[in-house]
Amino acid sequence: MSDAPRYIILLGAPGAGKGTQAEILREHFGLVHVSSGDLFRENRAKQTPLGKLAEKYMEKGELVPDDVTIQMVMERIARPDCVNGVVFDGFPRTEAQAQALDAAFAREGKKIGATLLVNVRDELLIQRLSARWFCPADGSVYNLLSNPPKQTGKCDKDGTALEQRNDDKPETVTRRLQVYHSQTAPLIEYYRQAGLLREADGEQNIEQVQAAIVKIVEML
Ligand code: ADP
Ligand code: ADP
Repeated sequence: MSDAPRYIILLGAPGAGKGTQAEILREHFGLVHVSSGDLFRENRAKQTPLGKLAEKYMEKGELVPDDVTIQMVMERIARPDCVNGVVFDGFPRTEAQAQALDAAFAREGKKIGATLLVNVRDELLIQRLSARWFCPADGSVYNLLSNPPKQTGKCDKDGTALEQRNDDKPETVTRRLQVYHSQTAPLIEYYRQAGLLREADGEQNIEQVQAAIVKIVEML
């Protein structure tokens, strides 16, 4: 196992378990979890100009334009806490974003260790997203069916009342899945060609997916 900083990308559809597994990799390997969706949601909550722009797209289940997304993520990974490695969750989501990341890493002499594709069928994704709840205070993610909080409706860590994301309603979910298949799924081939793609069966339970992913990252 090398000591070099690890840069890991989690690729997968909405609801595949990227955020859940990213948190596990963060804890296990001391990586920084960079979630483009969380960064947009923080900006929305504060109603920054970026947040106001992003919400128009997020509400419809569309992708936020590449230029603003790339700039936001590049600024985040330039912060000093990212020098020891990053787990990317939800970025890149288009070929332009993947190319921008490659160009930045080439300039800085950094290397992507692996892109982990978390595979889950659409039927199961829809079921998972309709049962996803989150803590607005600390971002913890739960699932009423597969990963419920200890006390109904409350965050295990801070007791805050859990909420549902407004883009997890069925109409928006359907659009997000279409967007995934048309705009993000081509990245599977992009990273396969680059020799970086590793796959995990995301339909297993959280602990089983974790075991598979941790094993892959340990080998890097
Ligand atoms: P999920 O984890 O369920 O796939 P995210 O939290 O990653 O959802 O993203 C929520 C929304 O934020 C997306 O539907 C999209 O509007 C926007 N978004 C997040 N990441 C990106 C990205 N890399 N490019 C463009 N839009 C993004
Ligand atoms: P993503 O970030 O890819 O959109 P999440 O990590 O938010 O996905 O997971 C989507 C929902 O499914 C959440 O409610 C989460 O608790 C649940 N979940 C995550 N991984 C699994 C799994 N392996 N089996 C069952 N449910 C899962």
